[in-house]
Amino acid sequence: MSNLPYRGRFAPSPTGPLHFGSLVTALASFLEARSQGGQWLIRIEDLDPLREPPEATGQILASLEAHGLFPDEPVRFQSRRHDAYQAAIDQLLDGGWAYRCQCSRKELQAHQGRHPNQCRNRKGMSDDRPYAIRFALEDEDCHWQDLLLGLQHQTVTAEVDDPVMLRKEGFYAYQLAVVVDDIDQGITDVVRGSDLLEMTAQQQQIFRALDARVPRWLHIPVILNDQGQKLSKQTHAPAIDNELPVQNLFRALSALGQKPPPALQSGSVESLLEWGQRNWRRDAIHLTSQ
Ligand code: GLU
Repeated sequence: MSNLPYRGRFAPSPTGPLHFGSLVTALASFLEARSQGGQWLIRIEDLDPLREPPEATGQILASLEAHGLFPDEPVRFQSRRHDAYQAAIDQLLDGGWAYRCQCSRKELQAHQGRHPNQCRNRKGMSDDRPYAIRFALEDEDCHWQDLLLGLQHQTVTAEVDDPVMLRKEGFYAYQLAVVVDDIDQGITDVVRGSDLLEMTAQQQQIFRALDARVPRWLHIPVILNDQGQKLSKQTHAPAIDNELPVQNLFRALSALGQKPPPALQSGSVESLLEWGQRNWRRDAIHLTSQ
């Protein structure tokens, strides 16, 4: 990974408009990439139409543009990548890395996550029940270095933790698509919120099963509201105001522990981003949330 030219990305799921927390993540990934002379991409992870209001993608892209966050390549949409995800599933099934599972959530809960139908051994499959496809994890004590959080240790439990790759309803799942696209787009560095930290060890196994090298990861603290909840659609985080990009970026830089000179508050989006790029200090990011 170390000799490859830096390629980073911001990969929002369009479940609502861009809020302050997602602007902070977008800005961190942008500045990490730019400060290292790297490329920065935007990928819309629109895999689940039932959770995604149709206007959200347009709102997110308009907000990123209003804040001067322009990608180096055309925006990628996961909704147009189903063939690639199916090909990856076929590859995983062929290699014994994935299996069909008909268990309901209730059945799995009742068996502490073990599959009563012995799905991993392809026993007990009946024709008339829909199935999901799951990744077959290996038991692992996984150690890896996060560029901000340092050495991480995660325990992966085979069968109990096996993530869904294709849902019973026919939707490709995040855990599959994120890895397939990070590989396909040659992403060397993933900067994202620490709410996704616990997914990382599982994702490393999926990278390896698809014969790919893992990227580096940097997880930034999630931004909390006054009640200590993560800013998200569920906690009714307000949409970012596209009329106030300089103020928003100034606040986002400050939330990332950077100390932009106050005079920049009356400057332009470009001058703030340029300052951010030149003065970016990863080690200034606060390890506790705002
Ligand atoms: N699409 C994911 C989300 O919005 C982020 C994916 C990632 O950065 O790995 O939560």
